[in-house]
Amino acid sequence: MAHIGKSKSGIGKSKPVDTYCIICGNKKAGIYVEDDYVLDTLRAVKKAITKKESNKKLVVCKEDYDTYEKYYRKFRYRLALYLSIGVIFAVFSLIVSPSIVTLGIDAFLIIFLYALAMLNYTPKLALDFETAKGSHQEKEAKL
Ligand SMILES: [Zn+2]
Repeated sequence: MAHIGKSKSGIGKSKPVDTYCIICGNKKAGIYVEDDYVLDTLRAVKKAITKKESNKKLVVCKEDYDTYEKYYRKFRYRLALYLSIGVIFAVFSLIVSPSIVTLGIDAFLIIFLYALAMLNYTPKLALDFETAKGSHQEKEAKL
């Protein structure tokens, strides 16, 4: 991770950007990952520590696409499940014992469950699954 490889060819018209697959960690071409607040935060933290702007782009390579899809669905499922549990618990606890203390405990619980679900954090792709698969197939057809 510490070593940032410079692209050998600077010949292309557009500035070359290093793309890394989030599943296998290799420098590979693939479908771009959409930037969200989690990635922005991680990037800001990294920049604050290293004082360097990274021009790395995150992608999912073709070989790891199925694995990625599994991870992503698992993450979304857990996030929805944990937050549902938190909200249901919060509603019931407030019915049983409506107080500011209950509200505080509920808020803490929801944040805790959210953080737990984030252990499986998997970023969204800039393209939806079907378009992404289509673009992969298109590329293959051109070869
Ligand atoms: Zn990969």
